[in-house]
Order: sequence, then structure tokens, then C-alpha cells
Amino acid sequence: MSVFQDLLDLVLPTKCALCLAQGSPVCACCYQQLVFDPREFDRAGIIGLAASEYGPKERQLLKSFKEQGQTSLARFIAEPMVPLFLEALAGFECPVLVPMPSSKENFISRGFKPAKVLANRVRRDADQIRPSRDTGRKVEISEALRFNRVVADQSHLDYKGRMENLRGSMTSKASLEGRHVLLFDDVVTTGSTLIEGARAIREVGGEVVGILVFAETILKTQTKS
Ligand SMILES: [Zn+2]
Repeated sequence: MSVFQDLLDLVLPTKCALCLAQGSPVCACCYQQLVFDPREFDRAGIIGLAASEYGPKERQLLKSFKEQGQTSLARFIAEPMVPLFLEALAGFECPVLVPMPSSKENFISRGFKPAKVLANRVRRDADQIRPSRDTGRKVEISEALRFNRVVADQSHLDYKGRMENLRGSMTSKASLEGRHVLLFDDVVTTGSTLIEGARAIREVGGEVVGILVFAETILKTQTKS
């Protein structure tokens, strides 16, 4: 995909995802103004870390990355996640990073798995800061989770509806007995997908030690801080 994207960038010049200026996936001017707001969140008792609130710029970056195939944006989205990744896994032996799975339909239409691409980028960039050859703690990325059935579109469902829609929809194809697992996704909303993922991880003996996402959607029931 990346070689293809590089070729595509040569033929079709890249536009800034935020202001549409020609030349770079995020232009120097927008990059300077790109300030994120890292935070902790809680979904059904699972504590996670988000690099920012899901605001207009986060929405635009993810839309261009996921829906318009601008995979060169991965490094800009990964950048604020790297310190959180190092923080979330500090002190855990042999941790595993598990990106949330894409549905078959999304994978076919996009041609790549956004969470997997981002997870790879975050691990790679974190390794530049704290090399695993020094710490001896190379973080494994496992595509353990998969959907075992088609899940109905849930954009219009509330939390309860989403949980019912998703219950039992995921399985882990890898045994994660005794492993410390950090779940990874681009956005958390109600958290129902991540909670179902955590259930499937526990079913195969893994211990979910946290969640890492790029952006948190503030729910209507939460007070905005
Ligand atoms: Zn720009």
C-alpha cells in the first residue's frame, strides 16, 4: 500500500488534509498549529488513553486517512500517540498490542486496515525513542481479534443497542494466556467495540491492561472539561 501511495503521490500531488494546500499531507503551517489534548478516559471500567478529543481537525485527519486512503497521514496521527504508548506499557513484561479488527466490508472498500497501519507506525516511532534492542522489550503486534459474524451498522444505536449488536461478535484466533494486552483503535465513542474486544481477549486468557486511541468522542452524558 505504501509503495502504491508513494507512486500515487508522484502522479497526483498531495494536498494538506486540513487546509487543502498543495504539497504535503499536513502543510508546515497546519502542522505548527496542530495541538493535541491528551487525556484519560473510562469506558465500563476499562481505563484508556487518548491523544486528543475527537474534534474537527481529528475528524478531518482520520477521514482523509481512512476514507480517502491518504496513508501518508499515519505518521501525523501516530505522533501524539507515541508518548501515550510508552506510558501505557511501562512496566509490563512482553506486552502485546492488539489493533481492533476491520469488518470485511471496510477492508474490501479501503484496501487496508487503519488500526493496524497506525499501530505499526506508533510502535516503529516509539522504538526510535526507546529502542527495543536496548530495553529488550519489543512489543508484539497481534491481529488476534476478528469478527466472527456480520455486525449491523451501529452509528444510530445508543450504548445499550451497540452492546447488544456486538455481544459475542469477536473471537481471538491467538491464545494470549497470561499476556498483557493493550487494545488499540483510532477513535473511542461509547467504547462498545473495545469492550467486546476486551471480552474476547479475556476469553483466551489475556489481561487487558489498557486501551490506546487517537481520539475520544465526548459523550453527551459526559461533561466537557
Ligand atoms: Zn494545511
